[in-house]
Amino acid sequence: MTLSKSNGGLGIRDIQAFNDAYLAKISWRLKENPDCLLGRILLSKYCPDGNLLTCSAPSAAPHGWQSILVGRDLLAKNLGWIVGNGDSIKVWNDAWLTLDSPCRPMGPATRESAELTVKDLILEETGEWNRGLIQTILPFEEERILNLQPSTKGAPDALKWLGTRTGEYSVKSGYYTAMAEVTDEILEGEPTPEFDWKKTVWNLAVAPKVKMFMWKCLRGILPVGERLLARHININPACKRCGNSESINHLIFHCPFAREVWDLAPLDGRFGISGLTDLRADWTEFQAQKCLPPTGLSSSPIVPWIIWGLWKARSRYVFETFAGTPADILSQAIVAAKEWASAQEKKAKCSQKIPEQTSRALGTIARSDAAWSETTKNAGLGWTVTSREQRTMLKKGIGFTPSALVAEGLELKESVATCSSHGVKEALFESDSSQLISAINGDNPPLELYGIVEDIHIIASAFDDVVFGWISRERNEEADLLAKNALRLYEQEVVVALMPPPN
Ligand SMILES: [Zn+2]
Repeated sequence: MTLSKSNGGLGIRDIQAFNDAYLAKISWRLKENPDCLLGRILLSKYCPDGNLLTCSAPSAAPHGWQSILVGRDLLAKNLGWIVGNGDSIKVWNDAWLTLDSPCRPMGPATRESAELTVKDLILEETGEWNRGLIQTILPFEEERILNLQPSTKGAPDALKWLGTRTGEYSVKSGYYTAMAEVTDEILEGEPTPEFDWKKTVWNLAVAPKVKMFMWKCLRGILPVGERLLARHININPACKRCGNSESINHLIFHCPFAREVWDLAPLDGRFGISGLTDLRADWTEFQAQKCLPPTGLSSSPIVPWIIWGLWKARSRYVFETFAGTPADILSQAIVAAKEWASAQEKKAKCSQKIPEQTSRALGTIARSDAAWSETTKNAGLGWTVTSREQRTMLKKGIGFTPSALVAEGLELKESVATCSSHGVKEALFESDSSQLISAINGDNPPLELYGIVEDIHIIASAFDDVVFGWISRERNEEADLLAKNALRLYEQEVVVALMPPPN
């Protein structure tokens, strides 16, 4: 492959990816809202069975419809089922195992299990997973399945876009999906190990411009000296700082200046820059290094920001003869990463600003909290129910809980179910998870909460008056202690259960 050729095609592919992403938006609207005027006209004319996702284009179909199908094809690549009651999902044919990319069980299916739906894997009485059956039919997928939270109250399954947290399509996420495809296409035939673009580039929690830049780095298409020379551009291909030949690896890793920057970087990794020869081969491990305290960036990636900073520093040096120091480059990268992270946080907070609910005197107040262990994926749930007559404290331990948010959700569901089973008609439910409360009160919960939020709505619909509100952590101390206690007891029990029986 010649470098200039791939670069020449890049701009066009880029525009094409954007174009497809916009077309997919139209298809998404048709899928979500087939009864809108446009949907009724188009679907009845070109899509006789009404299923946009499976219909094919008649040869005489106009260009407009063909375009919609191009968008539809992009959409279809990243759709997956979110389990509700499991009724609409074929165990072997549909993608339903994960929430971040379409994933089906690996076959082959046995003759008896070939036609099963996911509903068949759920116990009718309790609405919980039938572990025995899952262990028989899908032993290798047991853990992934148990981490999914089906609806126990019969909510329908939902076919969602897996590129965003809430499963709603966005042009930006469609563009990333299209670009990931383009990348795979370009790389076809190149001897490269499996590379997860989605996970290690497009899904990184960094600014979009930094993602795009990393994509170019990893594709090897930054206009550094060596590459410009290869494209017969008459320049001096030497590194301006040290005089060595300027390749991408030189610029961001091996140049003495870059070395100094990396030496100063407070990374927790054991990754030696000097050993790095192939950026793409080492990238997965390299980018995962976290920033040590006290930079305040413990959970956001810093490596892409540093590389981006090195590139910007190079531009300033080449075009403005501004040299900068390694310490400057590093601190600018950390500041940029922090600013971006806190802007995201602020955005998230603004969209879920909920006043503390205290003004309404509802008959019963239920407060809940969850404790969750990232290592064991166990959770402790604690909730207190206070009515005029009495006060009840409850707790429970559970396993296979994929995140703290899911634990909070399951916990609130328990709390609502308890009140419902005691015939409570008016209640205020409080949790200190603002994310959960906005998921309940808003339109589109995160995919991992889908079944839980549906169930909470179904149970709550039997109340005469019900409010879900946020309270501060300090005021939720009692439920918090119950939850922690429940987690501790549950983990003790699990340990005991795992020990071999005495002889
Ligand atoms: Zn150099």
